[in-house]
Amino acid sequence: MTTPSTTHELQVLIDRLHAEYASLNQGNVATYIPELALVKPDEFGICLVTSEGQMFEAGDCDRQFTIQSISKPFTFGMALEALGHEAVSQHVGVEPSGEPFNAIELQSGTNRPHNPMINSGAITVTALLHGQHGGAAIDRVVERLSALAGRPLSIDMNVYESERRTGHRNRAIAHLLVNFGMLQGEAEAALDVYFRQCAIQVTCRDLAMMAATLSNMGRNPVTGQSAFDIREVKDMLSIMFTCGMYDYSGQWAYRVGVPAKSGVGGGVIAVVNRQLGIGTYSPRLDVYGNSCRGVAVCEELASRLGLHVFDCLNVGSSYLNAIL
Ligand code: GLU
Repeated sequence: MTTPSTTHELQVLIDRLHAEYASLNQGNVATYIPELALVKPDEFGICLVTSEGQMFEAGDCDRQFTIQSISKPFTFGMALEALGHEAVSQHVGVEPSGEPFNAIELQSGTNRPHNPMINSGAITVTALLHGQHGGAAIDRVVERLSALAGRPLSIDMNVYESERRTGHRNRAIAHLLVNFGMLQGEAEAALDVYFRQCAIQVTCRDLAMMAATLSNMGRNPVTGQSAFDIREVKDMLSIMFTCGMYDYSGQWAYRVGVPAKSGVGGGVIAVVNRQLGIGTYSPRLDVYGNSCRGVAVCEELASRLGLHVFDCLNVGSSYLNAIL
């Protein structure tokens, strides 16, 4: 199939990708949070939203699942907004770690977490937000994610409770951070906000809309509401580009070439700057913790549509803007 040149052909491409990758049955759903083991492994949705708000979708785009790590770039943006670069960078770095997302490891010398996309960094960022907003921190996070999605979101209390009960590894990380003075205040209070933020329920359509909001310089293209200033969007996209796909981030940058973030709930977001937001949902994960079908679909979309930031198709005025 050639590169689509009309919106109809773009929809045909998405339908075809959905049909084709529905038979990709590699990977397993996350089970280390017991409640996540209960999801239906074969659900599968693909949604694209342009920076102007035009939507294309195929499959299970209404199904709710938990956002998990896809909340991390947004809480990072909120911390930057509240505290500024200088203060945030004293607590968390911006280097890819090359380690799994849940590694119990800090940067040698500074004792900071490597970056805000791994659990140690994300828990630190959430602790900073808790330090700013106290008990209202989680409401602020839910509000902000709702503004990005363009509808009110809520927390899946079963998933939250499940992770709160069993999240011993994250608890160990939080206490290590307290030990090194990277996390001030109560480890347990920060973890509670972190577990709740990970359990915010979204659909694949919400994810695409959140990604489209980032692609549209922080303004939701449908509601018109501004969720983030362009300064924070730039910072969030930078860190998603280098660290968003766990320790597959280098390969992702090479093969897909756009900022992205995945979560162990099975979601993936990818952002084509000033053009497009992509959201996928399929809970079977590969060894890195990324959705197998989500990665495959994004790789093929990037190559078909020339989305890679350095692709020759992606020169000056965008390919997508030309057909939409
Ligand atoms: N709540 C999950 C954890 O901390 C999020 C992990 C992820 O999605 O990468 O283990």
